[in-house]
Amino acid sequence: MTARVLVVDDLEPNVKLLEAKLRAEYFDVLGAYSGEEAIEIAQTEQPDIILLDVMMPGLDGFETCRRLKAAPETMHIPIVMVTALDQQADRVTGLEAGADDFLTKPVVDVALFARVRSLTRLKMMTDELRARYATGKGLGVVDNIEIDAEIGESRVFIIDDNEEQTERLKKALGEDHAIASETDPEVALGRARSGDFNLIIVNMSLEAMDPLRLCSSIRSFEETRLTPILAVVRQGDTRKLVRALDIGVNDYLTRPVDKGELTARVATQLRRMRYVDQLRSSFQASLEMAVTDQLTGLYNRRYLASHLSAMFDRAFWTGRPLAVMILDIDHFKEVNDTYGHDAGDRVIQEFAERISRSVRGIDLACRYGGEEFLVAMPDTDMAFASVVAERLRQEVATAKFVINSGRDEITATVSIGISSTENGPEEDSAQKLIKRADEALYEAKTGGRNRVIKNAA
Ligand code: GH3
Ligand code: MG
Ligand code: MG
Repeated sequence: MTARVLVVDDLEPNVKLLEAKLRAEYFDVLGAYSGEEAIEIAQTEQPDIILLDVMMPGLDGFETCRRLKAAPETMHIPIVMVTALDQQADRVTGLEAGADDFLTKPVVDVALFARVRSLTRLKMMTDELRARYATGKGLGVVDNIEIDAEIGESRVFIIDDNEEQTERLKKALGEDHAIASETDPEVALGRARSGDFNLIIVNMSLEAMDPLRLCSSIRSFEETRLTPILAVVRQGDTRKLVRALDIGVNDYLTRPVDKGELTARVATQLRRMRYVDQLRSSFQASLEMAVTDQLTGLYNRRYLASHLSAMFDRAFWTGRPLAVMILDIDHFKEVNDTYGHDAGDRVIQEFAERISRSVRGIDLACRYGGEEFLVAMPDTDMAFASVVAERLRQEVATAKFVINSGRDEITATVSIGISSTENGPEEDSAQKLIKRADEALYEAKTGGRNRVIKNAA
């Protein structure tokens, strides 16, 4: 896996050194010599990861990091701060500024590569979602997404056989989050799957089970595939750390755990997960909104337009018939005029429910217009479509529609026109199929309404 790395340092030799190391590992490298330049390049070049020096004239690393993490165009890019000082206060300031990790100069190669690999791998998930979102937005079917940075209380699960350390973690995180813990790794696996946790902390010195195996199991379960894992490692155990990052652990802490660093790293993971969740759910919600009708929950005309031609093509290739029926409520204007618009809406909703109940899962039911509906039925010939239509017509005519919260009942009738690919012309199309059903419907209306007419064509 290759990635584009932006290296930022005010001293050219430092940029060149990291560049050479990363190039040797086949990473693509960009350089910047100030915070201002880094922000500009990050915006235009969209690197996969940024290695950012702390001490620079002008905008220092902390402020640069803060600005990158505040801008919607760059907030998703992971940032690793690189500093000459190995001071705890610096680390916490950096993490609080939104940095994803900290490396100390001189940079240890294996740690650097493992970190770059793991952070860019994590970023791919967000990238995929961002790409889908961009497509949806380009098509005009997805609205702007408001990303809410507030984390709120989360559920954290600690897997650790060292009770003293567990207590310390609980004390440090307990104020802001709901904490659960488990000492037995086997039991912990079961609890992790059913617990719906937002974050899992694993002690990498567990005795009863290989902690790397434990982490990879957590990664492989459907329920916890995406749950962030924070590993607690012994200071200097680079080998285990690199393995842990490679199997998908999101971040790590060294023992003894510093409280500020713990809360900052936990916050970073929870924030990232929240970003992904929000991206995914608002994407789905707006996509659903874009293709469904608000009043009835059926598909809308826009969805029909794109999906019906696919159904038509499938019918053509499989040689199986596709039938379409268009339904229009009779004298619906009178319902509105007599009982009001709200009552009219209620009738439309109830009518849509009756349609949904009488069609199959593979059928496509949509609201075609105000009081007009269309149902496309794959694998259905004219004879079978007539049976479905006739049953629905009778049901509408006999079972009354309840309006005004149960105070009134009214009788409604429906006219239905049907067409099928069976009797279509040589050069048939989805549009023509609809047109034939529409002609049949017109006949049903002029013939006295409350009836089903098959297009003879
Ligand atoms: P026909 O038997 O010829 O179909 O007569 P009709 O009155 O049903 O047909 P027409 O097309 O003249 O009128 C349809 C009416 O449906 C007019 C419009 O106000 C009403 N309508 C369309 N959409 C809605 C809606 O979402 N809610 C309500 N309450 N009424 C709607
Ligand atoms: Mg009507
Ligand atoms: Mg109408």
